[in-house]
Amino acid sequence: MASQEIETLASALARLPGLGPRSARRAVLWLVKRRDSSLGALVDALAAVRDTLVECSVCGNVDTRDPCGICADPRRDTRSICVVEDVSDLWALDRAKLFTGKYHVLGGKLSALDGVRPEDLNIAGLLARVEQGGVDEVVLAMNATLEGQTTAHYLAERLEGFPIRITQLAHGLPVGGELDYLDEGTLAQALRARRPVS
Ligand SMILES: [Zn+2]
Repeated sequence: MASQEIETLASALARLPGLGPRSARRAVLWLVKRRDSSLGALVDALAAVRDTLVECSVCGNVDTRDPCGICADPRRDTRSICVVEDVSDLWALDRAKLFTGKYHVLGGKLSALDGVRPEDLNIAGLLARVEQGGVDEVVLAMNATLEGQTTAHYLAERLEGFPIRITQLAHGLPVGGELDYLDEGTLAQALRARRPVS
């Protein structure tokens, strides 16, 4: 039987996404065995993030400064804004290092089922950024789900009338995907987004 402190730590870790009670216990044991090397570093890193974490007032990214590192980066192209549902999408896209513009985090997606309305998302912030001018393109990088696409459609309507290009991620065959393993929705998207052979 583990002590109350160890139990508390294990149950705190078990609430993390991707970690169940079993892996949480394994993580605790791992940390206890590396008390001097890894545990201290983890405690310091957690405390540093707890003390400095802020939401970027420009784009909604989570960082240790406001404006965030991306918004403050002068090498980034301010004429292009990529709109995503959540911070995790921003981080995923940015890890790919393909997009050199700025981002805008909505904080979710429209959902009749979950009662998420346009005013619940950071749409006003996006419109304000576009209204300010200096933006040529808005990339709607919503997830390829029904709600994601509903959100993209709604945003495209709200952005109509601004002198900007509105683009959307192409949905289609995943790299390495074999046709007969794909679901019909993905196949239909891939077929619709077909392009001339260059
Ligand atoms: Zn930012």
